[in-house]
Amino acid sequence: MVKLKRSNLFALIAFLVVLGVGTYFSYVMREAEQQKQQFFLEEIVNSQAAAFERRLTRSLSATYILAQEVRRSGGDFKDFDKFAAEVIETLGGISNLQLVPKGVIEQIYPLPGNEKAIGHNILRDDVRSKEAWLALEARKLTLAGPFELIQGGIAVIGRTPVFLEKNGEEYFWGFTSCLIFLDDLLTATELDQLEAKGYDYELSRVHPDTKAVEVFAGTAHGELRHPVVKPIRVPNSEWTIRMSHPASFPIIFVLGTLISAIVATLFALLVQRIMREPERLRALVKNQTLQLEQLAFKDELTGLSNRRHFMEQLDQAIYNLSRSEKHLALICLDLDDFKRVNDSMGHEVGDNLLIEVAQRIRASVRQSDLVGRMGGDEFAVILRDINTSADVANIAVKLIESISQPIRLGRHDVVVGATMGITLAPEDGLDSAVLFRNADLAMYASKRNGKNQFSFFDTQMQTQAKQVMLLEEELRRALHKGEFSLALQPIISLADGQLEKFEALIRWQHPGRGELSPGSFIEVAESTGLIVPIGYWVVEAACEFIRQQVESGQQVKPVAINLSARQLRDELFARHVEEMLERLSIAPQFIEFELTETLLMENVELGKKLIQHLRRLGIRISIDDFGTGYSSLSQLKQFPVNTLKIDRGFVQDLQQNDSDRKIIEAITAMVHKLDIKVVAEGIETQAQFDFLKQAGCDYGQGFLFARPLTAERALSFAAVDRPFVVASSSSRGHHP
Ligand code: C2E
Ligand code: CA
Ligand code: CA
Repeated sequence: MVKLKRSNLFALIAFLVVLGVGTYFSYVMREAEQQKQQFFLEEIVNSQAAAFERRLTRSLSATYILAQEVRRSGGDFKDFDKFAAEVIETLGGISNLQLVPKGVIEQIYPLPGNEKAIGHNILRDDVRSKEAWLALEARKLTLAGPFELIQGGIAVIGRTPVFLEKNGEEYFWGFTSCLIFLDDLLTATELDQLEAKGYDYELSRVHPDTKAVEVFAGTAHGELRHPVVKPIRVPNSEWTIRMSHPASFPIIFVLGTLISAIVATLFALLVQRIMREPERLRALVKNQTLQLEQLAFKDELTGLSNRRHFMEQLDQAIYNLSRSEKHLALICLDLDDFKRVNDSMGHEVGDNLLIEVAQRIRASVRQSDLVGRMGGDEFAVILRDINTSADVANIAVKLIESISQPIRLGRHDVVVGATMGITLAPEDGLDSAVLFRNADLAMYASKRNGKNQFSFFDTQMQTQAKQVMLLEEELRRALHKGEFSLALQPIISLADGQLEKFEALIRWQHPGRGELSPGSFIEVAESTGLIVPIGYWVVEAACEFIRQQVESGQQVKPVAINLSARQLRDELFARHVEEMLERLSIAPQFIEFELTETLLMENVELGKKLIQHLRRLGIRISIDDFGTGYSSLSQLKQFPVNTLKIDRGFVQDLQQNDSDRKIIEAITAMVHKLDIKVVAEGIETQAQFDFLKQAGCDYGQGFLFARPLTAERALSFAAVDRPFVVASSSSRGHHP
């Protein structure tokens, strides 16, 4: 054993104590700083995600504008090129616009380089026909890609389906499409600037077919260090952005303190210097944190609020509205001809112009109003505490006058105009996304009127919003007056053709428009919350149908009922259903609830809770529309369900699509291992039936067997004892 001298021992203890304390403090400070930095990094990533969503939405709104024109012209679109050129100029970030009547690309602007695409049927020949069908069926804007173009570059394409009316009947006219280059998106959202500052990022999505995570843009220096991850919401898909810090300083920080500690014990003489060192480091940290803070909330160039901060403030302002009598106005403002100045006089001049404009906007509004730069030459203003729209108009005039004063840039005087779109809350909407879309539409109207102008989001634009309100009104009345009914569609056992159960599908006997399918009202019911009472009505009606079966003396077949997102969030749902079953004396095993895959993946915890609760009651659960979301089977294991329904889309494409066949076979085999039954939806042909049966699907539902039936016909369907036989030859099954 080595004997230490007493003085050495002291030195050692002193050394260890200082080392310990120094390391501890360094650790605590580093943790605190890292947390702060992580917070700001999150803000930056949020801001980028918001920027992406905003930019994409704005460019994609071109498809709405084209769709509006198609509707206005009754499908006879004149001067497409001129119109498209204008839209592209106004909204920016668009590579080309297309008119696709009946799914066939008929017009493209600009055409050069895209000639080959003319005549192409996107519903039939296109590798991305799936998204086109999705758009058509969901009746809304759908995004496909990102994918590589034959002519080079990576792009996404958005498609809006257009429906027209003829003799009171609605028919599908075609799509309006918009192609957007990814590079343009990256530039517009300033991701490239962050990259220049040393931030690493990566954009990815889950590929809709392979379900593999696919990185489609990024700085690609290998794995990101401790990235912040945020979803980017894009129509019918989810992208993910990951971003990590530039090389950080905490390492130096730790080392610095550590070395200080060592030095402290060995050379007491340096005490003074060591005292100063942490100060210097702290100043460094503070400075860096401040910079990050700026980056997170402020637009670097102009010092105005950045997009994310602005959006947050807008949400807050909307929230505050509900507690006062006041109104607010959202103004979106684009500079006219900014691109011309920027291109001809250089970026530096362009930057100075933006700084000057920012100051002028700031000076034209009250201190309490918020001004933000949304990117490029796009500004936005929230005017708070507005009394009348005339006040807003006055401010808009002031803004135009102020901005269009000559601006001295170097040795030149430049004059730019500003075009504005204005929307008011609460009258035009109480949702930031809606307000922005309104303002964009209004802005577009201004530009069409010849720039350097402002327009309010007007009544014509509002008709659609009004229609929704009208529908809401009518839905309330329908519930009150009993205009709903249930259609019941048989679900058949594929092995022996026996009736297994029914799916309940709601119908609306509209006094003016005849029978309506849920496609035309469920979304509004959902967004207004009316789906909750309507949903209870459906459960009650299903119970009534079960009671009729019991009374007819035949074997009772269960009824499957669809649930939507809003109902999932209704905390009392399971309890109310329980009470209802008791009150009506219906055995719970005759009830099944269908929850879509997407719904469950978006509400995992709520979904699990509700499913567990319902299963405890003895109610069965099935997963609907399986294959349309992006979940994997392993993710689904967490939901204890009885049945899985393979989406109609897969069944439809069976004949043409080998991979769909393989997917169905794989799903069926795997799901059976979990003791879950498989239903194939939308079986329309004998060939589909034959394949699905052979692939091992347990049950089938579709027009081949029966369309949704009235309760009365459903009862007689159930009464037919003879199993539903579908021969493997071309002979058809019988329909009761
Ligand atoms: P879903 O749950 O996927 O229901 C199946 C839809 O496919 C039904 O349309 C049905 O009529 C249709 N269908 C069935 N077999 C075939 C076939 O062989 N070929 C084709 N092309 N279609 C077939 P429906 O009744 O218009 O319902 C549409 C959607 O509305 C349903 O989709 C469901 O998500 C929703 N829905 C219906 N009733 C209710 C309800 O009571 N509550 C809620 N929340 N949603 C409902
Ligand atoms: Ca369903
Ligand atoms: Ca379904």
